[in-house]
Amino acid sequence: MAVDPTPVLWDRILDEVQRRLPTPQAFDTWFQPVRARVVTDVALELEAPSLFFVQWIQQHYLEPLAESAHSVLGAAPTIRFTVVPELAVVPTTPARVPVAAPRGGLTPAGRPPLGGGGFLSGSPESDDSGLLPRYTFDTFVVGGSNQMSYAAASAAAEQPGRIYNPLVIYGGTGLGKTHLSNAIGHRVRQDNPGAVIFYMSAEKFMNQMIAAIQAGTTIAFRDKYRRADVLLIDDIQFLATKDATQEEFFHTFNALYGAGSQIVLTSDKPPREIEGLAERLVSRFHQGLVVDVKPPDLETRVAILQKRAVADRFYLPGPIALLIASHVKGNVRELEGCLLRLIAYTSMARRSEPTEEMAQDILAEFVHAESLAIDPETIVNSVVVHYGVTRDQLMGKRRTASVALPRQVAMHLMRRQTTLSLSEIGRIFDRDHTTVMHACDKIERLKHSDRRMKEVIERLAETIQNGR
Ligand code: ADP
Ligand code: MG
Repeated sequence: MAVDPTPVLWDRILDEVQRRLPTPQAFDTWFQPVRARVVTDVALELEAPSLFFVQWIQQHYLEPLAESAHSVLGAAPTIRFTVVPELAVVPTTPARVPVAAPRGGLTPAGRPPLGGGGFLSGSPESDDSGLLPRYTFDTFVVGGSNQMSYAAASAAAEQPGRIYNPLVIYGGTGLGKTHLSNAIGHRVRQDNPGAVIFYMSAEKFMNQMIAAIQAGTTIAFRDKYRRADVLLIDDIQFLATKDATQEEFFHTFNALYGAGSQIVLTSDKPPREIEGLAERLVSRFHQGLVVDVKPPDLETRVAILQKRAVADRFYLPGPIALLIASHVKGNVRELEGCLLRLIAYTSMARRSEPTEEMAQDILAEFVHAESLAIDPETIVNSVVVHYGVTRDQLMGKRRTASVALPRQVAMHLMRRQTTLSLSEIGRIFDRDHTTVMHACDKIERLKHSDRRMKEVIERLAETIQNGR
């Protein structure tokens, strides 16, 4: 069964974009109407409703878009837009509304009005809950590692504010915390469409608070969140040492708790272990239930892969699922990343199903990427030693091949072996994120066309891995 991976890949890219945008409204306004025509590792061809859209995205959101594509595809495709005016349809009204003149008109600054007044308001897709659409209980695989938190989350969803309040889910990255907390929101909304639900990261909470202070709209900010029936705040470890945000959150928490609203928090560690979190918050958080998610066991990992493959209508032979699941252990996001890569490879190779060899190739890359704690300095040192250039040359401005190639290799390795973003890597080399993206892309291509290059990179990656 040959699949067209375009919609699947574009959906994943959109998931990533949504995570990176400052507000859900920005996502709804600018990305919901965009369609993908081609998604491969070399080209991302998108359709947008008007030139205004294209320009707005290019000016404001190109970086999150490029980063998202890179994180899903493992490559940096060239991004191109085509204007397709038919896309400018308000989903709930039969008449077509040209996007350049949205309902309510543009504000003097040329921005379409945000929040409610946006031209997409009324679309069932665009609510301001911030919930991520794919993360529901239905798509969540339950195993020994997450059974407790799943049970707690379902109970909280069925009787919000009544059983576990707050519910705190903690655990390592990529283990399903964001998924579970969103699932609670979706279930509550399904049972009670009128419920007021907000999901956001603690970081967004802080940014919105700061924006409200600057705009003099603190009261509106408070009222908005204190109205919630369910408030889901992701990654509260981010609040550490942010005293003013903690203070604001403390009052929001108390107001909601007092009103019997459900509060759900996630964190990468138990609240007590978050250094720089005020004791009064810690003790509030522990009033309810604190549960953890652990890394999934082999059977759960296989089940997750298979469920995802079915959802993506991709034929994943059992032995290949097992092969991937036995190698990628710690993190469901990486497991999914492997599967996506496999879908893309299969399609690019014009095959109807993946081969074991493709899976092996992908695994070789992922196993390296698992090493999270690598210091970029270690990478710089190894590259300097291997190519016999000086550190100053590597970090400098010269673009002769003898230093440009090692520099690109270093960028590629940083992208692969650290969790730094393209922009962060760019800052190390005093360059912008597109330069880094092209470097990564180029090295990736060289690895495929030049056997020696591939060996060099693998050897360097290994040295770095061992030397950290
Ligand atoms: P966290 O917030 O803990 O870092 P996420 O909730 O973002 O992790 O999960 C990472 C990815 O793995 C998401 O795409 C999510 O859907 C998926 N995932 C995690 N756990 C499960 C599970 N038990 N079943 C299905 N998908 C899962
Ligand atoms: Mg998360």
